[in-house]
Amino acid sequence: MQSRVDRQLRALALAKACAACGARVRTIGHLTGLPPREALRLLFPDRMAVPRGRSPDSPEWYHGANLLHRAEASIVVALYRRLRDADFPAGEALVGAYRHYLGICQPPHRISFDRAFDLAAHTDGLWLTDTRSFSLVTCPTCHSEFLAAFGSVARSNDHCPFCKLVQRYGTDPRVQGAFPVQPLAAPSAEQLGMLILLQRSFGSSTGQAGTSSTSESQT
Ligand SMILES: [Zn+2]
Repeated sequence: MQSRVDRQLRALALAKACAACGARVRTIGHLTGLPPREALRLLFPDRMAVPRGRSPDSPEWYHGANLLHRAEASIVVALYRRLRDADFPAGEALVGAYRHYLGICQPPHRISFDRAFDLAAHTDGLWLTDTRSFSLVTCPTCHSEFLAAFGSVARSNDHCPFCKLVQRYGTDPRVQGAFPVQPLAAPSAEQLGMLILLQRSFGSSTGQAGTSSTSESQT
């Protein structure tokens, strides 16, 4: 069992990680149990930098959100679910999932940390609410996981944001920008040319790189 000091240290480390992800004081309080006054004092000494604005309300928002928002919301919650299934505590799973999401999706990121928190809360019935409003379901066509109303079963891909993204990809520049084609690692003509030059210079008696031999030939 964790000692009191261990619990306190864990809460502070989690609070710091949440603040670095842009969390509001209220969200940090829910995730760590840190009193708002304490969170403000420790994490936001510059009060001007405190994230403000209305807190998200995802059960309403998600079903009316545009395709890219729904896709990114589903990615965040699917990453969170994987970490929860691997027995990470909920707070750490959320921070880990959010960082991973920032790493794999292109900016601008459509899902704020507070939104991710709200989505996870309403998926698991945690922190803010006992009511579960979302289920993570698997699309029968593309096998991606996406958020749907709680208790839904995906019998078709009608509500799968990822299938819709694929359908729209060829004609919608916003979708192309959000999910750009990743080129395969192939050396360019310049890189290949440089390799040949290097091999030649190493093979030559001088052992010097191209610049000096070029200047010698010019003089
Ligand atoms: Zn699909």
